[in-house]
Amino acid sequence: MRAGTTLAKDLDSEMLGTASDESKVDEVSFYTNGTFCDLCRGPHVEHTGKVGAFKLMRVGGVYWRGKDTNPQMQRIYGVAFSSKQELHDHLQMLEEAKKRDHRKLGQELDLFIFSELVGPGLPLWTPRGTVLKTELDKYVQELRDQAGFMQVTVPHITKKDLYEKSGHWAKFSDELFKITTREGHIFAMKPMNCPHHTQFYDATQRSYRDLPIRYRESTMVYRDEQTGELGGLSRVRSITQDDAHVFCRYSQVEQEVLSLWDIVETFYATVGIELRVRLSLHDPENRSSYLGTDKQWADVENAMRKIATDRGSAYEEEVGDAAFYGPKFDFMGRDAIGREHQVATIQFDFNQPEGFDLTCINEEGEKERIVMVHCAVMGSHERFLSVYIEHTAGKFPVWCAPEQVRILTVNQTDEIVKTAEDIVDRAKLLGLRVTLDNAQESVGKKIRDSELWKVPYTIVIGEKEAESDEVTPRIRGDMKVGEPTPMKVDNFLKSVANESKARVSKSSI
Ligand SMILES: [Zn+2]
Repeated sequence: MRAGTTLAKDLDSEMLGTASDESKVDEVSFYTNGTFCDLCRGPHVEHTGKVGAFKLMRVGGVYWRGKDTNPQMQRIYGVAFSSKQELHDHLQMLEEAKKRDHRKLGQELDLFIFSELVGPGLPLWTPRGTVLKTELDKYVQELRDQAGFMQVTVPHITKKDLYEKSGHWAKFSDELFKITTREGHIFAMKPMNCPHHTQFYDATQRSYRDLPIRYRESTMVYRDEQTGELGGLSRVRSITQDDAHVFCRYSQVEQEVLSLWDIVETFYATVGIELRVRLSLHDPENRSSYLGTDKQWADVENAMRKIATDRGSAYEEEVGDAAFYGPKFDFMGRDAIGREHQVATIQFDFNQPEGFDLTCINEEGEKERIVMVHCAVMGSHERFLSVYIEHTAGKFPVWCAPEQVRILTVNQTDEIVKTAEDIVDRAKLLGLRVTLDNAQESVGKKIRDSELWKVPYTIVIGEKEAESDEVTPRIRGDMKVGEPTPMKVDNFLKSVANESKARVSKSSI
């Protein structure tokens, strides 16, 4: 074996991916395969005969160790599978993923834009995108309100002191956008809402009779992500969180977690994304990354296991993925083309209540430490939408579609235009999102346009429709159950309004 040339101390911190000059490489491992020994974590396949099918995907020029003063080399990217079928499926998935790319669809369907003047990682939501985002959020908030949550609102900048107390200043200081006021005080753009919500709880002394207290808020938080890591909506600097916090006694946690779990399940069943549950635990080998004592962690982790078992849900445990203040359930969503994304989360927090000294007066008249449960259903709206746009390929169900019904005119005669405008008014009275295409174009072109915009329902108004007040709606393919027949305009509009209210994904027409 040749002597290696890598000395961590010769590499700069950027190459090592660390913030300081100190090398974080404390163990180097080899992987041996017969006579071949590689400086690599492995695993390797035993021999190329084991590779059933492979495809070289692309080549690219790279500099030795990423430094442009070093010699250039060719890097070859490939994928391998045990069977041709698996390779075929994978390539098809990639093809499909390309078509569904949310950045592409976001532009085609006019959902969001980025502006160089505003800056990277700061999406601007267009009117259409805002409808989609708002409708999804409205649903989450409706489910929460049914479970007893109350909406609150907090400011977007906050004194450093709050984050020092919550532990975020020490833990996430690099990710905070900091502001120095003209008087020299340090503020930060809020990176999360939990510390603020503790202040509502702490505003008066609570009795055990007041608990649980549940706050919800969909609001933007800001994190100074590195430019190189930003990508479409998947990772942004302005993140809309559908945040919620429950303040309760230890004895109430199970009930609260189960109720939040119901919300998560209901929401994801409606949007058609299948869930897998992961219990994220702390890593005892990396103890300094977490607040609290060993006993506290052991107790709450066992409590979480019990909750999942009592619920009868299958779950997997993942060591090292807990929040620094407590263990959590992470929900992994499987999209329409089989990819998995982390979506919702329910977190048990016994640390922030300590930090902020949150108590209630119990039955004995004594102060009792309470706990917090955090829950995000979509999590980051931006990241959720990057998943949801690709999951649906932009074909949103009628309840959250930016445009629910499009009305097309066959020509511009008075009677037809008047009828079409009248239908728009009637639709609006029912709260529908409706548009009129009265352009001097052929009906064929207008229908194709409506299809490109993936509008759930399109109706064409000609002389016959104007006379009879009946329409035969065109239904977007994925929603269609049967062949529609002519129906009274009011019946059609009412059906669409009912589908929207019931948040169904198939047409009832
Ligand atoms: Zn929180």
